[in-house]
Amino acid sequence: MERPRTPRTDPHGGLAVPHPDRRSLLRGGLAMGASAAAALTGGLWAGSGPADAAAAVDYPGATWAPASTANYTAANRPTTYPINLVVIHVTQETFADTIALFQDPSHAACAHYVVRSADGHIDQCVREHDVAWHAGNWDYNTRSIGIEHEGYVDDPSWFTTDMYHASAALTAEICDKYGIPKDREHIIGHVEVPGTDHTDPGPNWDWVRYIRDVNGG
Ligand SMILES: [Zn+2]
Repeated sequence: MERPRTPRTDPHGGLAVPHPDRRSLLRGGLAMGASAAAALTGGLWAGSGPADAAAAVDYPGATWAPASTANYTAANRPTTYPINLVVIHVTQETFADTIALFQDPSHAACAHYVVRSADGHIDQCVREHDVAWHAGNWDYNTRSIGIEHEGYVDDPSWFTTDMYHASAALTAEICDKYGIPKDREHIIGHVEVPGTDHTDPGPNWDWVRYIRDVNGG
């Protein structure tokens, strides 16, 4: 399904380096909004029709909202790399701005899924077999699925019951699919990735509740 890609001159560019602080991204996002919109209307996805889009979702409840192919590495996981981690993020952006950033080819980062705060709606931005650049650590990127949650680490009101439930169901499905244990050793926060300077999902993320929900509790 993947179209052949020209190898990047810097194949690990942006991969080992944590993605920029979200506050700087916010400023950048505001500045680059027009260019992102122009890129989208420029027909980046002209080769993909509705049927392709419909077929591209790995999780039945998700809506396909493809990231720019410049923001991840095409792969054939789990054949090329085992998948044994789920990495939990918080966006520090609105849902819509997060999707727009992932579609911006200059962003150099994205995650597989984004979960919306208000209703738990899920967009899928990168196929699970591809390596999304979300952890700021190439090894962790290669063997993980990244899930972003709309919200801000210092404001727990964003972490709604709908969002917890929807995300936990997604993570449970991923764990079942790849044989990943549903525990804190394998479902980790971005903050726990070696080398990161990110703090998400932060102290307001209810890990006990989340792991219980992932286990069907
Ligand atoms: Zn993160």
